Amino acid sequence: MKVTFYGTRGSIPTPGENTVKYGGNTACVLIEADNKKIIFDAGTGIKKLGEELLSNNEPVTIILSHNHWDHIQGFPFFVPAYQKDRKINIYSAPTSPIEHNAILEQMNMSTFPVPSKNLAADIKVIPFKNIFENMIINGFAISSIQINHPNGGFAYKIRHNNKVVAYVTDNEIYSEDNLNTDFTEWVTFLSDVDFLIHDAQYTDLEMPLKLGWGHSSIDQAIKLAKAAKIKALVLYSHAPERTDKELDKIIKEIQFKDLQIIASQEGLSHEI
Ligand SMILES: [Zn+2]
Repeated sequence: MKVTFYGTRGSIPTPGENTVKYGGNTACVLIEADNKKIIFDAGTGIKKLGEELLSNNEPVTIILSHNHWDHIQGFPFFVPAYQKDRKINIYSAPTSPIEHNAILEQMNMSTFPVPSKNLAADIKVIPFKNIFENMIINGFAISSIQINHPNGGFAYKIRHNNKVVAYVTDNEIYSEDNLNTDFTEWVTFLSDVDFLIHDAQYTDLEMPLKLGWGHSSIDQAIKLAKAAKIKALVLYSHAPERTDKELDKIIKEIQFKDLQIIASQEGLSHEI
């Protein structure tokens, strides 16, 4: 499997001189294998990915973790949605309240000039109702689990050819307000994962002021990765304020013998 990051930032896009290396676009990850692709989340990073997809006319599969803006806001700028004869399947996680069409509805107000009914592509929203195991989507076996996050949502495991990637964003591991999946349940869910992409928005120092916001600290993500015996952990959903320099320093200081730690970086691909 090949994993490419198109958006790594949490909450809000952060262009500027301090985010050139790790990127300023919000959540979007492409997972590919055997010429099949699945896009996870449609934050602003999906714009560039959409431009790349114009070279072919294959059906597009998008799986959403939840509907917060930083996970859907790029979709109105996703050019395949404007192509006739393009099929787009959007799989949507249950949220509270349940709003599976939020990604399209965001275009139907005074917020965007093109209403979703005018999109030329054949777009289907497919709701996920409950958590599931090994559902085959576009050739990948996908499993889901609930995230600990305001308004809820799903994290996913993606299995292909005996390799497993997990996409766990917007998850507060030790949540008190939004606990759906506790530490032990996370360890069980992630125990067969080779490559874990996990929310690591804050530092331990910042965490006390951010309790209940639905994100984890870098050290908490490491603790979970170690408990689940993960080989590679990718820090994801960087805080908007986190600079390239800070991330470089963090990554330099936290390497372990049996756990490789990577900071997700826009434009970078990883072979798993
Ligand atoms: Zn969120």
